[in-house]
Parts: sequence; structure tokens; C-alpha cells
Amino acid sequence: MARLLRVTGCTVVITIDGPSGVGKSTVSRLVARQLGLAYLDTGATYRAATLAILQSGIDTQDETAVVEELNHRTIDYDERGVLLDGESVAFAVRSEEVTANVSAVSAHPMVRSAVVEIQRRWVAFHEDQAVVEGRDIGTVVFPEAPLKIYLTASPSVRALRRAAESEAGGKSVAEISEALAARDHADSTREASPLKPADDAVVIDTGEMTVEAVVDSIVAHFLT
Ligand code: C5P
Repeated sequence: MARLLRVTGCTVVITIDGPSGVGKSTVSRLVARQLGLAYLDTGATYRAATLAILQSGIDTQDETAVVEELNHRTIDYDERGVLLDGESVAFAVRSEEVTANVSAVSAHPMVRSAVVEIQRRWVAFHEDQAVVEGRDIGTVVFPEAPLKIYLTASPSVRALRRAAESEAGGKSVAEISEALAARDHADSTREASPLKPADDAVVIDTGEMTVEAVVDSIVAHFLT
């Protein structure tokens, strides 16, 4: 893998935000690979927190109890992905139950500040040279990043893309569309760090674009 851009002491953080099913993970991973940067999926941290809460049987709406529980758990990453109490949970965090509850857990401001700390520490450990994807990365987590991308696509395009993934579990496009809309609504209307483009983000509508074209466009923005 080329590490063309690794310059010690220089911040090379590319933020990639956008709604569910827009293709953030695929694109972010490829941009990171192409530029020789580390890659962080911040949704996985909120998913791991949600898995911990579901395992403990706590009400996801009870912020105090949620935070109290998370104080006793550890969330981290290794090369396999996200870890909960040292165990790889990369597969478990993609479950339908976690997906259905993650927006409720991630809406709590105290959860967000704890999780953002983990994300910032991870990026600092990677010498501030990373592609970081999520919902609030350009607006809140790394507002000083030199390149901020916001990916969009129509709800129908996103639902069709999700339906083609193995995670869809045989659900109809209509069911997927409804679940995506509910999660987008929760993520973009919450008070703490809602999903929205940063004022200086480059907005890319991926609806009519191939994955390669989106990656090329982001790399070109970065290199110019
Ligand atoms: O990206 P992913 O679908 O894995 O994100 C799961 C959930 O985590 C989102 O629906 C959102 O509620 C939350 N999230 C967030 N902020 C981020 C990344 C994800 O609130 N930066």
C-alpha cells in the first residue's frame, strides 16, 4: 500500500459524512487505501455501545443508566474492527437489533462525548492521518479537517443499494426504505450533533455515480 501522504506532524484527516446506505463505508475504505491513510468507521463505536446496552437489558432511552453501564465497558478497535471489552464484535454490531436501537443510544449527548473521545484518540494514535466516516465528523469531531465530504443519494437509490447487501437479510425494498427513513430522521433531528453537511463540505450526490467515480472525485478534491 502506498503511503504517499504520510508526513509526520501534519494533519491529513478526510471526513466523510452522510446518511445511511449512501455508500460511505465502501468509498471511505477505498479512498483510505488509495491515499495510504488509516480508516475509521465511527458508526461501529455507536453500534458497540448499543450492543453493550442491549446485552445489559437497560432501557436505551435512560441516558443516566446507559452512561453508567458504558462507564464499565471498553470500546476499542483492532485490525478486525470494533472491540467490546476486548472481544471482536464486528459481526454482532451489524445485527438488526443493534441497527434498530443505535439511533436512540447515539442521540444521548453524554454517550456522544465519551464515544467522540475514543474516535479522536484513535485518530491521534494514527498520527492524525486518516479517513473518518460518520454523521458528525466534519461538523463536530474534526471541524478543522482539510477536506470534508458529504455524500448524498435519494432515499430510493439508498434503499436499493442496501437491499443488494447481504446484511439486508431478505427484507423488501419498502421495508428497508422505511427503516432507513426512520434512522435518518432520528439522526438528523436529534439535538446533539445532528447529521448535516459542514458549511465547507464538498457535497457529492452519488446517485448516478459508480463507486470508482466517487472515490476518484474525493481523491481529486484532496490532491487539488
Ligand atoms: O454508519 P452506521 O450505519 O454504522 O451508523 C450507525 C448509527 O450510529 C447511525 O445511524 C447514527 O445513529 C450513529 N452515528 C452517529 N454519529 C456518527 C456515526 C454514526 O450518531 N459519527
